[in-house]
Order: sequence, then C-alpha cells, then structure tokens
Amino acid sequence: MTGADTRADGRLRLTILGGYLGSGKTTWLRHQLYHGRFGRAHILVNEAAETPVDDTLLQQHAAGMTLLAGGCACCAGQPELLKSLRHLCDHRSRVASDSARLERIVLETSGLADPGTIAAAIQADPMLVHHILLDEIIVLADAVNIIHQLGTEHLGRAQIEAADRIILTKVDAQLSGAFSAVYATLSQLNPGASITSAVKGEEIDPSVDKAVSPIPLPALGELADLAAIEPTRLKIDNSVDWAAFSVWLSALLHARGNDIVRVKGVFDTPAGFLLLQGVRNSVQAPEILPSSSTQRANEIVFIGRNFAKDDLGKSLEYFSLRTG
Ligand SMILES: [Zn+2]
Repeated sequence: MTGADTRADGRLRLTILGGYLGSGKTTWLRHQLYHGRFGRAHILVNEAAETPVDDTLLQQHAAGMTLLAGGCACCAGQPELLKSLRHLCDHRSRVASDSARLERIVLETSGLADPGTIAAAIQADPMLVHHILLDEIIVLADAVNIIHQLGTEHLGRAQIEAADRIILTKVDAQLSGAFSAVYATLSQLNPGASITSAVKGEEIDPSVDKAVSPIPLPALGELADLAAIEPTRLKIDNSVDWAAFSVWLSALLHARGNDIVRVKGVFDTPAGFLLLQGVRNSVQAPEILPSSSTQRANEIVFIGRNFAKDDLGKSLEYFSLRTG
C-alpha cells in the first residue's frame, strides 16, 4: 500500500474494504487511520444493516467522511456511491496545491455488499474510470464464523473471491489449531489473495501449518457447477506489441468475462511499463510504473475459472501473428 502512493499517477486511489456483517471492518479501519496507514484519506461508510458507526472516531484521523445512505452500495445504493465519488473527484480537481489534495478514498462497504460488483460499477463509469484507481480490495473475515458463512451464503464466497488481501479477524490463541484449516480453505477459494490476520486492527503472525487440508465446503445451488477460481500466470514475450495485446485482452474479456474475477499484470510499452488491473470484464485505464520499478517482464495473471495456460498463450500468439 505504501509503495502504491509513490507511483507517478494523478488518479485518486481507492481502497475497498469489504467483509461480512460483524467481520470487524470498522475496528480495523479505525486502527489503520489512527496509525496513518492510509495517508490523507476520505472515508466513505456504507451501512446496510449494521449498528451505526461512531463517526467521530473515524473522522478524527481522516481527511473527511461521508455516510452513504440509500442502501447497500453494490446494489440499491450504487447511484449514491457513484454520486459521492464523482463529487470527491470534482472537488479534488479544484484543489490547487499538491499537499492539500486528497490521496485516497477508503470505502467501507456494508456487510451485505459484493466488493467485486462495486469495483465493476466504478470502472464502468465514464468519468470515474479516468479519475479513480482501484488500489486494493481488502476483505475482512471473522476467523470463527467464516467457514459457516462460506458454507451457507453465496455472498460470503463472492466477497472472498473478490479480495486482493484477506485479513482474518478475531484470531486468538484458542483458535490456533483450527486456524490452519481456515487459512487453507480461504487460499483454496482465492489463491491469488494474500492472507494475513489481525487482532483489534493490529496485524499478527499466527503460525500456519501449510500441510493442513482445506475444510470441504458444501455446494451452493448454482455455484455447484462452478469450478474453483485459480490464478493463471501468462508470461508474454517481447515480440507481442501493446496494441495487439490490448485488442486480444479486450476480446478475451468480452468472451470470457464471467469466468474472470481479476486481471493483473505489467506490460512493456513505448511509454513505459504499464500496470494493468481489472475486475471481471472491465480493465481500468493502465497506469505507468515509475522507472525505478524492478518489474522488467511482461506478465499477466488471470484469476478466474476454467483457464488453461496453454490455451491462453496459443490464443495470444495466434492473435498477434494475425494482427502483427
Ligand atoms: Zn448490495
């Protein structure tokens, strides 16, 4: 997160904080703000059915705060969310001094929200897509209840699948044996995410026994037929140029968007190394990595279902020969 703030890009960074009801989002966020971990951030809080947050505690260490009314921001409350984001972008563009300009928005979603749907809505907005850079989807999961939620709720799985970073909360000594199994279950559901733990907002390092098997989850209605999501890493050789690659990628996203949860990668172009990030079938405008970045190879990671690495490689090769 700290590295992200030094990237040479004028867009306002967005962190989406998700997690089921009672996963401890507000406690965690308050702790991060208190320790200055989000820099100069405006906090958007969306409550659907939770106890109202104590605004003053959040507000004290934030650049500003807005409570989003109108329901859950991933569905009924989406217009309200987009309106607030546009307003923040507008306001920021009128601030002349760099040092006074807002750096980041942190959206604390309602426990009922699917963060992936929110990310997709922002990227589909013609104005926001140019002004906001989705930095990270952080999903909190209550270590005691997450397995039950994953076994009974589509939403619980959608939240975990959308995460770049999963933080297990309410981890304590008593749980240490079971923790490895919870960890294994989450990393099987979303192998692309990093998984850490926190107690009252502070990161801890519980020992994880990587040999422990995941807890089998029951099939959930329509999810029963879906394969597990997994990352497919595609290294692209330098003979493929950016123009051909971007046409290929958009064709792929149109054809296979429903199978893709996230796309992340770096591509060398005449303008510099571009960082690509997408959620489902929309990719946000890439940002140029600073020249100090150590990344020097074209590599894209697709996180999704039913991808075969060889097929992706062959499809790209075929496509670039035809257009090149
Ligand atoms: Zn919703």
